[in-house]
Amino acid sequence: MALTGMDIFKQLPKTNCGQCGIPTCLAFAMKLAAGGASLEQCPSVSEEAKALLSEASAPPMRGVTIGEGDYALKIGEELVMYRHEKTFFNPPGYALLIEDTDDPAAVDSKLQSLKDTVYERVGQTLRANLVAVKNTSGDAGKFADMVKKVASAIEYPLVLMAEPAAIEAAFVSADIKKPLLYAATAANVDAMAEIAKKYGAPLAVKPASLDELGDLTTKLDGMGLKDLVIDMGTRTLKETFQNLIFTRRAALKKKMRPFGYPTITFPAEETADDMMETVHAAVYTIKYGGVMVLKDLSPEKAYALFVLRQNVYTDPQRPMQVDQGFYPINGANEESPILITTNFSLTYFIVSSEIEGSKMPVWLGIVDTDGLSTLTAWAAGKFVPERIAAFITKSDILDKVKHKTVVIPGYVAQISGELEEELQGWKIVVGPREAADIPSFLKSFQPVMA
Ligand code: SF4
Repeated sequence: MALTGMDIFKQLPKTNCGQCGIPTCLAFAMKLAAGGASLEQCPSVSEEAKALLSEASAPPMRGVTIGEGDYALKIGEELVMYRHEKTFFNPPGYALLIEDTDDPAAVDSKLQSLKDTVYERVGQTLRANLVAVKNTSGDAGKFADMVKKVASAIEYPLVLMAEPAAIEAAFVSADIKKPLLYAATAANVDAMAEIAKKYGAPLAVKPASLDELGDLTTKLDGMGLKDLVIDMGTRTLKETFQNLIFTRRAALKKKMRPFGYPTITFPAEETADDMMETVHAAVYTIKYGGVMVLKDLSPEKAYALFVLRQNVYTDPQRPMQVDQGFYPINGANEESPILITTNFSLTYFIVSSEIEGSKMPVWLGIVDTDGLSTLTAWAAGKFVPERIAAFITKSDILDKVKHKTVVIPGYVAQISGELEEELQGWKIVVGPREAADIPSFLKSFQPVMA
């Protein structure tokens, strides 16, 4: 049973030293009980108390990492039901389903497409995360051959969907690091647990009922296997969605440890319609899928999922921002105009899209305004002459252009005089108020060369 704030408080040093970042031990204890703090934050807690408090200090949902290195995927460790309560932390992974009965040439083509389906958006790389290899043939040798083929073609971590003997054969034939083993059931749990232990791999559990879920995860936890992923076994959108909400609620609100693991879902097995498969994955991206296995991750469908995931998993308390700096657009050169705006990502995308559409080479200067848009940043004192001038003078833009003219957004025309005073020797030009007017402005504007 979860400990209360008072139970935790009794075990703390009660010095109110504040080193945990919270002013008093009592406030820290309350926060820890609510899952909003980690016991590691208190440097003074005794080892004895640590052992006693381990239950309370563990996150209500365990974080599980699949794979190793740059492509490893961490899922779970979520603290809230609703994104606006705090944020969601670990974005779910999309897995492409490959069956060992698939035509080898088709597999090559699918994997190449998966590798090529990578997008840059707001400074982040968007891509799929895993390949799930399924032993459809029932032949362990054939499964091992397909796992070897996939592992040598792509670095993404794997989900191995097979019975224990075939999974063991795959480990023998290929060098695979920490794949997700799918799945332990009441019938094969001991054999699966043995392989998971032997190879240090995370393990999915697939119970026949909610009661059996508790039995399986409790048994595996007792065997020292902590990195578990839940598949509730349902294969309809409605039931899977209900179960995702139920397990998340049980883990976070009821503190039921046997349910406190991330999930895996199978849109690929829920519908034969490729478009509906994307819709199912989108629903589970919003609530509360950990891994989604799909048979179609073609670029247009993948892009919709990637952008949805990116938006759901941004911190709602922090606006999406672009890094401060000068961005060359359309092959900007030393004669190209300099336009300045704020680092609110939406502002950046609207302005940069209009510039790109104009086909005119431009240096777009992005000032760090803590993610605020132009007028809001100006009103908050973050897009003001001193700050803009400091950004320009500390940058190396004068190594890149041979003029000293900067264009500011029309919405902050009022700062042009003051900015000219701050930026001695520079000419300040007031640009259009609306981004849509930038292309026509650029057609008739040319900075005067030094
Ligand atoms: S660091 Fe530990 S002892 Fe200090 S206030 Fe926080 S909980 Fe109390």
